[in-house]
Amino acid sequence: MVFSIHKITHIFSRYLLIHSILFSLAACNSPESSHTELVFGGVVCTITLFEQGKDSVYRDIFSRLREIENLMSVNIPSSDVSRINAAAGVEPVQVHDDVLKVIERALYYAQLSGGAFDLSIGPLVSLWGIDSDNERVPSQTEIDKVLPLINWRNIELEPQTKSIYLKNKGMSLDLGAITKGYAADEAAVIIKKANIDRAIIDLSGNILILGEKKDKSLWKVGVQDPGGNRGSYMGILQTTEITVVTSGVYERFFEEDGTRYHHIFSPSGGFPVNNGLLSVTIIAHNSMNADALSTAIFVLGYEKGISLIESLPETEAIFIFEDYSVRKTTGVNFTITDNSYRLID
Ligand code: AMP
Ligand code: MG
Repeated sequence: MVFSIHKITHIFSRYLLIHSILFSLAACNSPESSHTELVFGGVVCTITLFEQGKDSVYRDIFSRLREIENLMSVNIPSSDVSRINAAAGVEPVQVHDDVLKVIERALYYAQLSGGAFDLSIGPLVSLWGIDSDNERVPSQTEIDKVLPLINWRNIELEPQTKSIYLKNKGMSLDLGAITKGYAADEAAVIIKKANIDRAIIDLSGNILILGEKKDKSLWKVGVQDPGGNRGSYMGILQTTEITVVTSGVYERFFEEDGTRYHHIFSPSGGFPVNNGLLSVTIIAHNSMNADALSTAIFVLGYEKGISLIESLPETEAIFIFEDYSVRKTTGVNFTITDNSYRLID
């Protein structure tokens, strides 16, 4: 297998992040075992099952993660999402229940966010080539050409026939903003079925914690320092059983002529979102919802984002800005550990 330098750095840096987070978690709760594999196109996925962790459960979890990747990845030609995209403007495509569920939820968040989250973002992702060998800044003419294709309202979901239809030729879905969240929830289902009470599912930027620590103290989760090296964290979140999902500019990006271009796009403008935010972390109970929300809120920006978060039950957020100021909702137990950052009330 041949990896580009970019890809290797990407994978290596993800490792550092995972280890620093797990270090802080494991420090007071030594895990029985922990398994790491690369899934979702090179994302480091680490599962830690405390106490009753068995090889067969790890195997089941990773095969479920791969099953989800094989259904939802745009880079796998046989995936349901690739089949939907290939049939854009031609015909509806019958899909697996998993795909139907994720698209249904993605459409819900597209509507809730007024289109800031848009699963039909595919043509823009391809045009910019983020995380591929074709990364480049496209011309305004190219952007203007694909923008009319980005519109979640032109996705038809037919529950009876379990099929999805993209109304216009050239449209394409990209479920990258929600798939890992769904996968984390599905890993949790397997863990609960195996009667394992305590576990950490860490799908790089997408963490789901199950159960209580033995000594009943709170779990600690490091929030990535968006301005620092991979693996360095700028604050610690203390929490009970919860999911913590971050969308940040550092996750995937490239540089051209001294400007950094990241992977979260404005569906209306066609450029990477540039609104003063470096990252948005969502703390909630369901990982798929938190994943969709982290992306949606990032695109909406602070003002609109915080009012959406405040309208949702049991959902908290941490916002980190380019000037290293930090804002959070009131229900988060979060302490800044790096004094280059400052909390604004
Ligand atoms: P996340 O890291 O969860 O915020 O997801 C980012 C990924 O979602 C990107 O790599 C794209 O594949 C996709 N994406 C980018 N912009 C958007 C958007 N505005 N709405 C939905 N998905 C997006
Ligand atoms: Mg997301």
